[in-house]
Amino acid sequence: MNPQTHFLLPFFISIILMKLNVMSWKFALIAGIIGVIIDIDHYIEHIIHAKSNRFSLKATWNNAIKLHRFTERSFIHHWEGALVLSLLFLIILFFNWQISLVLAIGYYSHLLLDYPFFETGKSWRIKLGDVYVTESYSELIVDGTLLFGILCVLLI
Ligand SMILES: [Zn+2]
Repeated sequence: MNPQTHFLLPFFISIILMKLNVMSWKFALIAGIIGVIIDIDHYIEHIIHAKSNRFSLKATWNNAIKLHRFTERSFIHHWEGALVLSLLFLIILFFNWQISLVLAIGYYSHLLLDYPFFETGKSWRIKLGDVYVTESYSELIVDGTLLFGILCVLLI
C-alpha cells in the first residue's frame, strides 16, 4: 500500500472516534501519521541491505515500489512484531490509554492494509523522472472511499 492509504484509514477511524468524543483532532492526525511511519523499516532495511545509495529515500522508494531487490519489511510487519508491539501497547495502556489507542489504530490499520488484498489486478504505473509510482485501481477505489468517508464524518 502507498503512504496516502496508510494515512487515510487510521485517520478515518480516528475522526469517527473524534466525533464520538473519544479522541481529539490532534490524536486523529497523529494516528494517520503513525500509519505511514510504520514503513520506516523499509528505509532501515535499505540502509542495511542496499549495495549502493544506502541513505537515499528515492532508492528506498523505488526498491519498495518496483525493484524489490531485497525484502524491505522488518519484523514489525510480521506476527512476531505484532506480538511485541501489542504487548508494548498493552503496557502503555496502563499509563495513557489515548496514546495506546492512537498507536494501536495506526499500527493495526497499517498491517491490515499491507496484506495484499488490494495489490491484485490492474495498476496505474508511471515514472516521474527516476521515481516509480504505482497505484492499483483497487487502491484508488479504497482511497476514494476513505476520502468520501472522511468528508461525510467531518460534515456530520
Ligand atoms: Zn508496510
